[in-house]
Amino acid sequence: MRYLILADVHSNLEALGAVLDDAGRVDAALCLGDLVGYGPDPNACVQRVRALPDLSCVAGNHDLAAVGGYDVSWFNSHAREAVLWTQQQLTAENRDFLAHLPLTRTLGPFTLVHGTLPEPMEYLSSQWEARATFQEMSTPLCLVGHTHIAEAYTQANGVIMPQHQALLDGGEIKLAARDRYIVNCGGLGQPRDGNPRAAYGLYDSRRRVLSVRRVEYDIPAVQDKMRRAGLPPMLSDRLTHGR
Ligand code: ZN
Repeated sequence: MRYLILADVHSNLEALGAVLDDAGRVDAALCLGDLVGYGPDPNACVQRVRALPDLSCVAGNHDLAAVGGYDVSWFNSHAREAVLWTQQQLTAENRDFLAHLPLTRTLGPFTLVHGTLPEPMEYLSSQWEARATFQEMSTPLCLVGHTHIAEAYTQANGVIMPQHQALLDGGEIKLAARDRYIVNCGGLGQPRDGNPRAAYGLYDSRRRVLSVRRVEYDIPAVQDKMRRAGLPPMLSDRLTHGR
C-alpha cells in the first residue's frame, strides 16, 4: 500500500495541488489535521482532501476553532482573524465534516494525532515531549502535525534516541521492525522550518519506507488571494520564507 501523509494544509490550495500532483497515485490518505485556518481556500481544500482515496483524518486546533469547537483566545491575533474569516466562508457540509473529525485514530501500524497523544492540541517538538507520546502509543508509528516542522523521533530498544532527525530538505526513514517512530512530515500549507516548499509524506508499507518530500508551488498566487481576501499580511508574508 502507498499512503499519502498530509498535515497542516491550512487552506493553501496551490500547495495542496502541487503535493497531489507530485505524489501521484496513492491507495490511502492519512491527514493530521488543520485543513483550514490561515489560507484563502478553506472549502476547496476540505473538498480535495475529502475526495482522496480511503481517507483517515483527525482534527487540528484550527479545524475545531473554525467550527466553534475550540477557544480562539488561545490563538494569536493573526490566527484568530483568519479563523473568524474561515468561519464565515465554510459551507455547511464542510463545517459538518470538520466538526466530526476525531482527535486521534489508530489503524494498522499508524496512530494519527495533530499534536501529542496525551494532549492532541499540544506541540510535540522535543525529545521530552516525544516521551509521553511513545508511552501512550500502541502502534510502531505515530504521525503528527501541528508544529509545521518536518522531523522524526525514534525509540530503539525502549530508549528514545537523543538526536531527532531533521527532515526539512526531505528524506527517507526505513522503519526497523523492532523500533518505534514519531514522524512529522512538515506543514504542507505553511512550513515553519525555514524551507518554504510544501511538505508531505509517503509511506510504502511493503518496503516499510517513509519518505518526506518538499515541492515547489506558486507562493505569489496564494499571497495574492490572501491579500484580496483581506487576511493579515503577516500570514501571507511568512509563506515566502517558510518561517
Ligand atoms: Zn497548523
